[in-house]
Amino acid sequence: MSELRRPIESGVPDSTQFMHPTLVKNYGQWAWHDRPRPGVLRHVAESGETMYTIKAGTQRQMDVYTIRKLADIADEFCDGYVRFTIRSAVEFMTPVEANVQPLIDRLEAEGFPVGGTGNSVGFISHTQGWLHCDIPGTDASGVVKALMDQLVDEFKHEEMPNRVKITTSCCQINCGGQGDIAINVQHTKPPVINHELVAGVCERPAVIARCPVAAIRPALVNGKPSLEVDEKKCVCCGACYPPCPPMQINDPVNSKIAIWVGGKHSSTRSKPMFHKLVAAGIPNNAPRWPEAAEIVRNILGAYKADARAWERMGEWIERIGWPRFFELTGLPFTKYHVDNWRGGRANLNTSAHLHF
Ligand code: SF4
Ligand code: SF4
Repeated sequence: MSELRRPIESGVPDSTQFMHPTLVKNYGQWAWHDRPRPGVLRHVAESGETMYTIKAGTQRQMDVYTIRKLADIADEFCDGYVRFTIRSAVEFMTPVEANVQPLIDRLEAEGFPVGGTGNSVGFISHTQGWLHCDIPGTDASGVVKALMDQLVDEFKHEEMPNRVKITTSCCQINCGGQGDIAINVQHTKPPVINHELVAGVCERPAVIARCPVAAIRPALVNGKPSLEVDEKKCVCCGACYPPCPPMQINDPVNSKIAIWVGGKHSSTRSKPMFHKLVAAGIPNNAPRWPEAAEIVRNILGAYKADARAWERMGEWIERIGWPRFFELTGLPFTKYHVDNWRGGRANLNTSAHLHF
């Protein structure tokens, strides 16, 4: 075990300082592991020492009282050690087998479901949403809460063909990632420009350069320097809004939700895949997003019933083909699924939407 790294101004801190002493002692010397029950992993080291990991879901955005509660549980059962995953699940680790069941009972009594270590719907990763970011068109974390309230049994029981990673994004262009199912904002109308504010707020050349289809031009409006958008060219991506907030694109009616499927980051068994659009124009219906949730449940149901063991969502669709996917899910295939942007010529043959 190397000594702690010296502090640097970037990057993550050395993780060994946060690890349970049993983990530090057996670092890199684990002999085997298994999953005694959903939500619990058992790692056994060559030394014979055992470490149990108990995984629980959280409500994603947590207040300080909830974090204190989780820390108190860690103090009581796990010598004070706890860690959060990228999907805001929480993992408690203890070398004491007798602590496992009481810890599970306590977590469930406090409302934290235990699961997610096997082939399950993991907790949903989301972008920052209304709480932290200045450009979101929806509250991605709210979508997560609404969906996980309905999918929590799929987290606890682990009966999916393989892991299902769901992501949500609250704009179309910035953070977020590939997911077996992705729920993303979709703007459907060009930005509306507040010409009074552009000259004082926006660096116009930077905004013009930002547009991927060269739809923005400088313009004089009412004698003031401003911008104009060629609406025939605009693909409603929303890229101009972050550097120029007077180009408002978020809209309570015309900012919609779109659902994409079949993406994955991992290269296990098959290459990483981009997810593909399967449902568009879904109402951005806070606070429970019932229309988007129904489509997600429907896709999950078809995948669970039809996929072979260990097939990820994208692998299943590649095997059965996109026409069969649309048949099984009952989703309509429309002209909007065809990537007909002229700049997309280069990717048409690599997309699942069209094959020549
Ligand atoms: S997805 Fe877009 S709106 Fe949401 S947090 Fe990221 S940059 Fe902000
Ligand atoms: S929304 Fe996108 S395509 Fe439309 S003007 Fe802004 S940057 Fe250009």
